[in-house]
Parts: sequence; structure tokens; C-alpha cells
Amino acid sequence: MEAADRQSLLSVRGVERSFDVGNSKLRVLKGIDLELQTHQLIMLKGRSGSGKTTLMNLMGGLDTPTKGEIHFRGQPFHQWNDDRRTEVRRKDIGFIFQAYALLPLLSAYENVELSLRMAKTPRGDWKKRITTCLDMVGLAKRMHHRPFELSGGEQQRVAIAKAIAHRPSLLLADEPTAELDSQMAAQVMTVFREIVRSENVTICMTTHDTTIMEVADHVYEMVDGVFVAG
Ligand code: ADP
Repeated sequence: MEAADRQSLLSVRGVERSFDVGNSKLRVLKGIDLELQTHQLIMLKGRSGSGKTTLMNLMGGLDTPTKGEIHFRGQPFHQWNDDRRTEVRRKDIGFIFQAYALLPLLSAYENVELSLRMAKTPRGDWKKRITTCLDMVGLAKRMHHRPFELSGGEQQRVAIAKAIAHRPSLLLADEPTAELDSQMAAQVMTVFREIVRSENVTICMTTHDTTIMEVADHVYEMVDGVFVAG
């Protein structure tokens, strides 16, 4: 992907986040600046408790900053109310978690279908889109399997298909390879690279795994609520 083909997607400027804990304030994020463009694979690393998940929650509109600005596609995300952020989140942001988050009684196909229903995607091209997404993650032949019939790596790949099905422009993944062995983790990273190349999406993920960091376009290291030189 040429740099000239990339567009600004998410801009985080001077962001701080504090939480009230008892009578005191816990300052978790202490001034974060981050610019994401389309077609990027970005990693956040840092010790447990350094603030990565708190930042991801802000980027995904699940929470609002105490101070600073977040612009999503040029719009002031930080000023919007919950309803408006939820609307954008459903349509334009996908989430992937450490523990796959698939519904156990539904097949891979039905799990992906659910995400299109939630995003209120017009029904017309569902079948094609679901098949394309499962194919992208290498599971077209397993689409009628339920989660318990799939390996951990395969389940995580279904979760990826589910997260991209509604064509989000931002995919947030919190420790997506933490439960996987190195071979499965590498497969997930190969899928991520392919998605970033072929879909109009940017992936931002947290990880502790140094062996997968080389596939990132950029790795940011968080220490105690600030980024240090990566
Ligand atoms: P990481 O993802 O890097 O492990 P987190 O963002 O989950 O770090 O947490 C950073 C710190 O913020 C931790 O000390 C955590 O306990 C605290 N924290 C996160 N969310 C809340 C909350 N809602 N209320 C109080 N403290 C919180």
C-alpha cells in the first residue's frame, strides 16, 4: 500500500483519562497522541495495567476522554453522546477479543451473519459477504461447523470474519493472539495483513507477543499512560 493511498481515519490528541477510585483520581492515560490512517496494522504494547485497553475503549467509542480530542473520520467523536457513538460503532468499528466471543450454538456462518444483522446491513448481499469473509480467513470449508468443532485458532478466525463482515473501517483487537500457540498466532497475523491489504480497514491491536510485532506497520509502546519512543 502506497502512503499516498492512505487517508486519515482516527486522530487522538492530548487524550487523558482518569477514573474516580474512592476519594481519589486514578490518572490512567496522561496525554496520548496517535494518528491512524486507512490500511494500517498498528500494535500497542506495554505491561499489564499501562493503559492499553483504556485507550482502545476510547478509540472504539466505548468510553470518552477526561481531556483531549478524538476525531473519527474527521468527526469529533469525543463530543458525541452515547447513542451517536453506538450508531457509529455498530456500522464502522469491529471488535475482536482475546476469548473469541462466538455464540456456541451458532455455526461459523450464522455467527458472521449475526454481525450483519446487528449492523443493519441490507440483506441483499449477506450470503456473498459471509462467504467472502470466511474465505478470507481460510474457513470457507468449515462454515457450517459450530465453535466447539473448531480449534482455538479457527475460532479466532471466525471472530475476525464476524468483526469485518459489516465492512468497518477500524478493527480493534485486544490481545487477539494471547490464547493461541505460535503457529495459530502467525496464521491470525497473516489474515490480519491480508485484510489490511484487501479491505478498506485499519487494525489496531494490543499484544505482549514480541514474535508477531514485525508484521506491524508501527508498534507503540505504552508505559504508565504515555507512549515512549517505539
Ligand atoms: P492494560 O490494558 O494496559 O492492561 P488497562 O487500560 O486495562 O491496562 O488498565 C490501566 C489501569 O486503569 C489499571 O490500573 C486499571 O485498574 C485502571 N482502570 C481501568 N478501567 C478502570 C475503571 N473503569 N475504573 C477504575 N480503574 C480503571
